Amino acid sequence: MRLVLLGPPGAGKGTQAKRLAERVGAAHVASGDLFRDNLGRGTPLGLQAKEYMERGALVPDEVTVSMVLDRCAAPDAQGGVVLDGFPRNRTQAEALDRAFADAGAPVDRVVLLDCAHEVVKARLAGRALEEGRADDTPEVIEERLRTYERQTAPLAAYYEAQGKLRRVNGDQSIEAVTEDLVRAATED
Ligand code: AMP
Repeated sequence: MRLVLLGPPGAGKGTQAKRLAERVGAAHVASGDLFRDNLGRGTPLGLQAKEYMERGALVPDEVTVSMVLDRCAAPDAQGGVVLDGFPRNRTQAEALDRAFADAGAPVDRVVLLDCAHEVVKARLAGRALEEGRADDTPEVIEERLRTYERQTAPLAAYYEAQGKLRRVNGDQSIEAVTEDLVRAATED
């Protein structure tokens, strides 16, 4: 099963994508984690991504698309993937569609984790205190939310037009959201 989890930063995508992947037996592929891992290891890709991540901007598509598609080609991802944080704009979505269509296994379903802006901001502020992520400062949070609204939110319409979109209310307990996601991802 090939799933995409869409939603604003702070909606709980990371936590939920991991839980969903376990439930459906798929690999959890998170573009932000891949970038942070590269950054931590000081790879050229990590260095390239650094300034964009620090600003809350999108890393250029050329870098991002190949990184995620390479990860999806790994052996552990052949049984299925839950994509988390990718695609984030129309170019990435089209590149993903092409690559998966070429591989004969298109995206099956896209679930949008809906969450009110105020909830998202409060969660991000809390996470900043707990995890100390460099891009959880108030200014960068604002920029990440703006980037989401401008570039990523329109993907809901893109996938709706393909008949693949489902919506789940992200403003519930972790367990309740996971149950809704599993249902949304698997029901006919
Ligand atoms: P995340 O952990 O998903 O919030 O991602 C952290 C940061 O990594 C983002 O603010 C972007 O700078 C970068 N990033 C993650 N995924 C993508 C993507 N699909 N396209 C471009 N940049 C990305």
